[in-house]
Amino acid sequence: MRTPTPVTRPTRLTRSLICGSVAVLVTLTGCSSGSSGPAGADSASSGAAQQTTTPSSSASGGTAEGEADATPSAQETTTALPPGLTEDDVEAGLTSAKVKWEASGTLQTVKGSTRAPGKGKVYKVRIQVEKGIAVDGEKFADFVLATLNDDRSWTENGTRRFARTDKASEAFTTVTLASPQTSADMCQPLQTYGKLSCRNGSRVMLTTYRWVKAIPEYKKDREGYRHYVVNHEVGHALGHGHEYCAGKGKLAPLMMQQTKGLLGCKPNPWPHP
Ligand SMILES: [Zn+2]
Repeated sequence: MRTPTPVTRPTRLTRSLICGSVAVLVTLTGCSSGSSGPAGADSASSGAAQQTTTPSSSASGGTAEGEADATPSAQETTTALPPGLTEDDVEAGLTSAKVKWEASGTLQTVKGSTRAPGKGKVYKVRIQVEKGIAVDGEKFADFVLATLNDDRSWTENGTRRFARTDKASEAFTTVTLASPQTSADMCQPLQTYGKLSCRNGSRVMLTTYRWVKAIPEYKKDREGYRHYVVNHEVGHALGHGHEYCAGKGKLAPLMMQQTKGLLGCKPNPWPHP
């Protein structure tokens, strides 16, 4: 698998809360069909995808990511790591390999802000995690921002870059990591069963189920899958619809619903690999 190269990581965050509200439209990663209407659960594969909204207001369409099961296994040699977690898992914010189906239902905004590196138009992202899940919000936030600011992501040859804000009014999207139950609730009307991620209105909703387990096709490269799910769902928030595997052995398009299966394509977490 291609191993994403390290990226500069914005630093520092703290935490605060803000209860999230559910937006009306949705998009699931790994998702399927494009929908521009109030609900487009990413389900199977269907025709062309939704080309929705503008980066900032992105209000419609929904997309959900697909199934499959991967087991958090890979034990690293380091003894300080929580059981079942690798260094990469910890870098992505995980503090436990166990997935609790439900947590508090309260979303906490990661406090503070980080500046966007480089040049280009700045897009601000707000990050939230559900209180009670086994995730370090600041690490999760750093992972998301580092992913988006990677040259292979949506930076478009340096014309776009991403900063973090804790103000909803400044953010073009809010990326939330929540328990399977809460993510399923907040992705509605899309059906995610807690195992798919989605984009619902201006909110990107990621489930801890996949953040921990990823999917079998990425094998041990769970970090790669996490890059994928962030890039894919934020891709929806930027107005991108679904794409499809162009043939056996080809690199999967980022906007393919990879969580639902690669159909012979090779895993790919980036829009510009
Ligand atoms: Zn999708």
